[in-house]
Amino acid sequence: MTQEIHKKVLQHPIFNLIGDNADELGIDCYVIGGFVRDYFLDRGTPKDIDVVAIGSGIELATKVASKLKGNPQVSVFKNFGTAMIKHEDLELEFVGARKESYQRNSRKPIVEDGTLQDDQNRRDFTINAMALALNSSNFGQLLDPFGGRKDLALKTIRTPLDPNVTYSDDPLRMMRAIRFAAQLKFEIEPHSHQAIIENKERIKIVSKERIVDELHKILMSEKPSVGLKLMHQTGLLPLILPELTALQGIEEIEGQRHKDNFWHTLEVVDNISENTDNLWLRWAALLHDIGKAPTKRFHKKLGWTFHAHEFVGAKMVYKLFKRLRMPLNDKMKFVQKMVLMSSRPIVLSEEFVTDSAVRRLVFDAGDYVDDLMTLCEADITTKNPNKQRKYKNNFKIVRQKIIEVEEKDQVRNFQPPVSGEEIMKTFNLTPSKEIGIIKDAIKEAILEGEIPNEYEAAYNFMLQKGKEMNLNQISDEK
Ligand code: ATP
Ligand code: MG
Repeated sequence: MTQEIHKKVLQHPIFNLIGDNADELGIDCYVIGGFVRDYFLDRGTPKDIDVVAIGSGIELATKVASKLKGNPQVSVFKNFGTAMIKHEDLELEFVGARKESYQRNSRKPIVEDGTLQDDQNRRDFTINAMALALNSSNFGQLLDPFGGRKDLALKTIRTPLDPNVTYSDDPLRMMRAIRFAAQLKFEIEPHSHQAIIENKERIKIVSKERIVDELHKILMSEKPSVGLKLMHQTGLLPLILPELTALQGIEEIEGQRHKDNFWHTLEVVDNISENTDNLWLRWAALLHDIGKAPTKRFHKKLGWTFHAHEFVGAKMVYKLFKRLRMPLNDKMKFVQKMVLMSSRPIVLSEEFVTDSAVRRLVFDAGDYVDDLMTLCEADITTKNPNKQRKYKNNFKIVRQKIIEVEEKDQVRNFQPPVSGEEIMKTFNLTPSKEIGIIKDAIKEAILEGEIPNEYEAAYNFMLQKGKEMNLNQISDEK
């Protein structure tokens, strides 16, 4: 093994402090994992620091904390043999080196104390198994038994042991491999890739929450299609998001074809990722067409149709979130709303854009209208340059009109300018369906641009509508 010394990354006084205290306790300790990897990748120095102790990690953490300013609290997780300290902006995690053995039906190993080598063996990838020594005798020495540095240079994701064993032991590592490949723009080494294919079914023993964590990270990477394609190639995708793989394929009947909505979706996700870091908007892009698989029909006159796919898709979003144990909260509702409305601006972009159509769009989308526009712009994947230009240009017009309509009429988060109470008072009505009819007529008149969204105009409109309905106006004072 090389005897490289890397002190530069360990300049923060915390590292000497940890090393000195380990010396006093007579135990060896190392920084390991993501911190070391990201240093060599020049990704800056991470705030999460994993320290492995050849002995009790909890004991070392407790001693270190007692020496730190303000004596920070040590959070101990006895079951895992880990202890965590928050110090300034750092999060220090201490763990005793361990040896793991796995049983077939669980990703929770049987754990025994081990050597540094044992601990490195249980790490997921060579690039995550590098350690830097902290004791004074070898401070800064790199321990890289599996060639992690070389794999960083080769941009390769490789497991320290036989990949079949590594993935079968803890199948979450398959998702981690794909996630790191996507985040770091690395390749998964071919044996490893093959082992993922062979072990894919084992993903079923991994909790949904952990899978979703990795999915989020894939979606937040620069080009999410990289990770999604790897999931597709290895066969993990249909096990996790079957709704997406169901979109794959092109059918042809009577010479009419539809586009492949799976590959289209991946393009849309990449497009939107250039314009937003909103995770949930990226999810909306991923799911915007899922209703197309169950609604696909061939129609002799119309060709391929996906009638009401937005509505069906929005319902599928709920089921998908529920299955993946994602919270069924306002984020989910946001994704549903985006899916439900995903075709609305497209219709506008194909035709002449009227004020009233834009007003209705703003009314229905409310605060989400900008996100919806971002989604629809990303949805343009046509390779026909003329169409591409036309759609983009029309969306520009829509965006401009949204601003104009907003200034004029404020229909975003619409509040009726005349209240139901006032309608009741004016026509001496008790709660009845007439009130709803009048309120709706006022709203329609505003959205159609017949009257401005103002009290005066709406009040007069109400009087006129009441007359048409033969209602008696009891007072004309306002
Ligand atoms: P990031 O924090 O950027 O996601 P990381 O490498 O620090 O990357 P963590 O999940 O924080 O990832 O884990 C820290 C270290 O623990 C990893 O570098 C790796 O050595 C090890 N590790 C984490 N999860 C696993 C796992 N499922 N199997 C084996 N080793 C793992
Ligand atoms: Mg980390």
